[in-house]
Amino acid sequence: MTLPMVEPQAGMPDEVTIYEVGPRDGLQNESLAVPTEVKAEFINRLIAAGLQTVEITSMVPQKWVPQLGDAEDLLAQLGLTGLGRQRPVLVPNERGLDRALEQGVSAIAVFGSATETFARKNLNRSVDESLDMFGPVVRRALDGGAWVRGYVSMCFGDPWEGPVPIDQVVDVCSRLMDLGCDQLSLGDTIGVATPGHVLRLLDRLDDAGIGPDQVGVHFHDTYGQALSNTYAALGRGVRVFDASTGGLGGCPYAKSATGNLATEDLVWMLDGLGIRHGVDLSALVETSTWMAQQLGKPSASRVVKALAGS
Ligand code: MG
Repeated sequence: MTLPMVEPQAGMPDEVTIYEVGPRDGLQNESLAVPTEVKAEFINRLIAAGLQTVEITSMVPQKWVPQLGDAEDLLAQLGLTGLGRQRPVLVPNERGLDRALEQGVSAIAVFGSATETFARKNLNRSVDESLDMFGPVVRRALDGGAWVRGYVSMCFGDPWEGPVPIDQVVDVCSRLMDLGCDQLSLGDTIGVATPGHVLRLLDRLDDAGIGPDQVGVHFHDTYGQALSNTYAALGRGVRVFDASTGGLGGCPYAKSATGNLATEDLVWMLDGLGIRHGVDLSALVETSTWMAQQLGKPSASRVVKALAGS
């Protein structure tokens, strides 16, 4: 298999965590319903390929997200108890938290928004109201010994509001950290961020007391910027990178085939930089190709396409 030449760079980390979001963020935005057995095999293959952190599913009501309506069955098939913070589950509210805790989940994520319009559309609440809703979810999860991630959507641009003021993003991030979140995930939900914008936000967060060791970044490749933004964040000390195998997920707000950064493309760049991540690219590409067949469409990963033609 073709591999990149390894050229480590000064100022880059030795090791990072890839936070795989394909089974949740990816499949939630795919139109085709995927059988529970296929999801379980997908997750098991991702773990076998070396992905240490895999977000499994979401405890949202089935009527909101029918694609993830089988959360309990999936967790039962996977036998998740005791796997800790490396198998997070998204929970929208206290009911979702109850369901997650009943299944022995010990890492959760809440899904906040930096903008009012998206908070209304996604959670049917204002930003203030959604943070009020998350308060007891985070507190009870922490009391139960769980690890908590706070997603922040629309950190760079919003399809209804346009560019998002950095102060507004920092304010929502600070409030989520004040609730007790262990980690934030800064989402470029529509993929409009560019490297300077990423660095500006990371610097402003650092000024507000939220260092690069407390955040992950969640880039979308809609405008082809995801790896440029990743490289910028790497140089600023970020160590957690969200990605979706095969680029699963599309882009629900831009009608583009390109959404989440593909895990394979991220792995290729990290390999070239000599940064450890634990993933076997060949096993990952096999998994991505298999999953693409299940979905009946080609993998959106450039690396998968290039390797198939080499
Ligand atoms: Mg995403």
